[in-house]
Amino acid sequence: MSAPTFDDRDGYIWYNGEMVDWRDAKVHVLTHALHYASSVFEGQRAYGGEIFKLREHTERLINSGRILGFEVPYSADEIDQAANDVVKANGLVDAYVRPVAWRGSEMMGVATKGSKIHVAIAAWEWPSYFGPEARMKGLRLEMAEWKRPAADTAPTQAKAAGLYMIASLCKDASAENGYDDALMLDYRGQVAEATGANIFFLKDGKLHTPIPDCFLDGITRRTVMDLAKKRNIEVIERVIMPEEMEGFEQAFLTGTAAEVTPLCEIGPYTFEVGEVCKTLMQDYDDLVNRR
Ligand code: PMP
Repeated sequence: MSAPTFDDRDGYIWYNGEMVDWRDAKVHVLTHALHYASSVFEGQRAYGGEIFKLREHTERLINSGRILGFEVPYSADEIDQAANDVVKANGLVDAYVRPVAWRGSEMMGVATKGSKIHVAIAAWEWPSYFGPEARMKGLRLEMAEWKRPAADTAPTQAKAAGLYMIASLCKDASAENGYDDALMLDYRGQVAEATGANIFFLKDGKLHTPIPDCFLDGITRRTVMDLAKKRNIEVIERVIMPEEMEGFEQAFLTGTAAEVTPLCEIGPYTFEVGEVCKTLMQDYDDLVNRR
């Protein structure tokens, strides 16, 4: 039997202030967001029934909306409460949580005046983004064809739906070519991030990670930087050129969905799944599971 589609499941979705039946959480085809990408979203994980860093995600959602020129019509407290309620209403313990805010079908056109902001939060079971085997052996990334745009070309600090257009193209191409994901450079040719996660490298006992000036400064990225500091591992945020990967010993991705996931290959470069990487994977696991 094929997996259930995302519009045809049992459960509840919080939709504009109410808990509605999963199958009733719909939008019209003439929804502004569908045509013009006026949509922002979050990806959160609940561990043991509790959403990790919920308030930070909620604040980012509200801020993403502001970057796209709209105000999410609920307070941070209300959104936090709704996210917790959705996890509970669906009887979930370990879950992925997806809040989304978008311009509706009140008007049509590139202009946004007259459109209303809608908000929904869904949650479902989603154990491992890359699968347990790939997580142990390390992922294989290809070099992406698309570049992350400059901060004056796209709203790069928002978690905005439109930014995922090129991410999907890169992710699909990587799968067609037999890879797990793709490493995207930015408009300057500097190492940026994967299609849905940030990247770190290890060299001579120090971690190196790109400066997030044209891509998301992930909540997991900042969490892992704190974990590294607790282990007295220096973290250097700097410009990283792709050729430098030749000399890097270890590499890993960070993200809410990806958690800490080691890499064994990026294009022509190879890495070992080494001690620092394994230590931070374990530290992250312990933190989110409150061990
Ligand atoms: N970059 C992109 C493009 C992402 O989609 C994500 C996942 N939200 C991240 C980075 C990592 O962000 P976070 O750690 O906040 O999940």
